[in-house]
Order: sequence, then structure tokens, then C-alpha cells
Amino acid sequence: MNTQNRFSRRYSFEFFPTKTDAGAEKLLATAQTLAAYEPDFFSVTYGAGGSTRSRTVDTVLGIQQQSGVPTAPHLSCIGDSKQEVIDLLDHYRSNNINRIVALRGDLPSGMGLASSELRYANELVSLIREHSGDHFEIEVAAYPEVHPQANNFESDLLNFKRKVEAGADAAITQYFFNADSYFHFIERCESVGVDIPIMPGIMPITNFSKLARFSESCGAEIPRWVRKQLESYGDDIESIQKFGEEVITEMCERLLDGGAPGLHFYTLNQASPSLALWDNLKLSERR
Ligand code: FAD
Repeated sequence: MNTQNRFSRRYSFEFFPTKTDAGAEKLLATAQTLAAYEPDFFSVTYGAGGSTRSRTVDTVLGIQQQSGVPTAPHLSCIGDSKQEVIDLLDHYRSNNINRIVALRGDLPSGMGLASSELRYANELVSLIREHSGDHFEIEVAAYPEVHPQANNFESDLLNFKRKVEAGADAAITQYFFNADSYFHFIERCESVGVDIPIMPGIMPITNFSKLARFSESCGAEIPRWVRKQLESYGDDIESIQKFGEEVITEMCERLLDGGAPGLHFYTLNQASPSLALWDNLKLSERR
């Protein structure tokens, strides 16, 4: 159905850096568990404005070294100076990191766009290419349901295209619960000449109230029928997780059958919700 079919499938898991040594130990154990499934890469988030700079660096290097799985730092540029970004790029390069997830990040409260040296992710991608050539494989973010601050679908699509023209190799989407929004986005990308692999970002459903809050802020729509069903379970976590697993497994089946070039799991640092999906979908056999 789309040009995404021609890419070999890739599977990846995303983590966030923890605040304590105990948390870091636990995360390493989670990464080891997931490494056994031979994912193509792990990635580790970065707090905008450099708020997790050293923790992201330590987590990325620790996980890659221990698990042997290529690990990509996220790098969100808003609030960081060009020099800070360049220093990080050099540090990663000298530590055998060869993949980066390049983002703008969300503005820390009280900070205007104008005060940042790098204002949009396309500028970050250009800087990475200018400074590091082709050393890094660069992933960028994509929004099938439209970025919350975008004026409209078209302008957001053209802004996505700018990142590809600046040198992005692939993209990972914001999570969504409606496979049609992904397929529509892919078709529109193709119509403007964008044909890099675009990996659906998959959020396992484990906790309804947190999911509802986060979805509101990042612009991911929870379909009414899913929301109503999840609401009806109240505090019954087991039923929420069971229903969530069914809904997400079914959506992933549709995505993969429709040509999605892989899946990127937002693990929230937990192995089992993503692995339940992995097993249901028999991903080890679907490369
Ligand atoms: P951009 O691509 O720069 O887009 C941001 C907005 O500006 C959009 O509305 C776009 O339409 C518009 N725009 C883009 N370029 C231009 C331009 N040149 N001129 C005018 N308007 C423009 N956040 C973090 O802080 N840390 C993370 O680790 C992190 N990881 C993420 C991983 C994934 C896979 C995804 C999907 C998101 C992640 N985020 C993370 C959230 C992300 O930083 C926010 O969604 C942020 O608001 C936008 O980042 P972006 O890179 O998509 O920005």
C-alpha cells in the first residue's frame, strides 16, 4: 500500500534516564531483558534545556556498553547553545555512539523560542550534519495526528519535510491509537516527496489516568470507545492492561500488515508491557 513496505523492519525500545543509582541499576536490568530480543536499537530521552544532560549521557553509554545494543541519545535542542550541542556530539562520537534522535524539545516554562540559538529540529539536524557529516544516523519526530503547536496538518507536514531535507534518515512518530492516522500521514508524506522510513511509536496502555493526562499534552487522541472502556475499569489495573494489550496488539497488526517499517516502543522503563506486545505480534519472526 505504500513505499514503507520496501524497508526492512526495525524494532526499538525507548527509555528515560532515572534519577537515582538504584533506578539506573533497575533500568540496566530492563535493558538486558529487552536485549535478548535483539532489537535494532535502544534510545534514551533528554530533558529540554539540558536538564538531564549528564544522566542521559551516562545512561546511553552504560546501556550500550552493557547490553551491546546500539543506543541512541535523544537530543532536544531548545535551550541548549550550539556549542553545548557540538560538545555532546563530539562526546558521543568519541564513545562509539552512531545514532541520534534529534528533537526540538518542549519549551521550559517562561522561556520564549526567540531566546534559543536553535529553534526548530530542522536546525538541529542541519547542525549535526554540518558538524559530524554522516557519522550519525539521525531519527526525527513525526506527528500523524499533528503536532499540538502546529497551525494545521499541511504546515506541520512541510515542517517535517524540512527535517528530512536537512538530513534525517528516518522518523519515529508520536504515539497514536488510530492506525488510519498513520496511513494517512504516510500517504501525505509520499505526496510531498518524503519517503524515509517512518516508525510508528507505540505506547503500551498500563495506567489510564497517566495516559489520559499525557495524551492531552502531547496531542495524542484516545478514541472515545477506548477511553470509555478504560474509564469503566476504575482502579482495576489488570483489566486496564488486558484490554490495552488487546487494543494495541490489534493496531500493531494493522500497522505491520499495512507496511509499517517497524515499531518503536515507549517502554516507560518497563520490559513486560512491550514484551507482551512483542510476543503477541511474534516480532522476532517479522523482521
Ligand atoms: P519540530 O520538528 O521543530 O516541530 C515543533 C513545532 O514547530 C511543530 O509544530 C512544527 O510544525 C513547527 N516547526 C517545525 N519547524 C519549523 C520551522 N522551521 N519554522 C516554523 N515552524 C516550525 N522531548 C524532549 O524534550 N525530550 C525527548 O527526549 C523527546 N523525545 C521524543 C521522541 C519522539 C519519538 C517524539 C515523537 C517526541 C519526543 N519529544 C521529546 C517531544 C518533542 O520534543 C516535542 O513534541 C516538541 O514539542 C517538538 O519536537 P520536534 O522535534 O518534533 O520539533
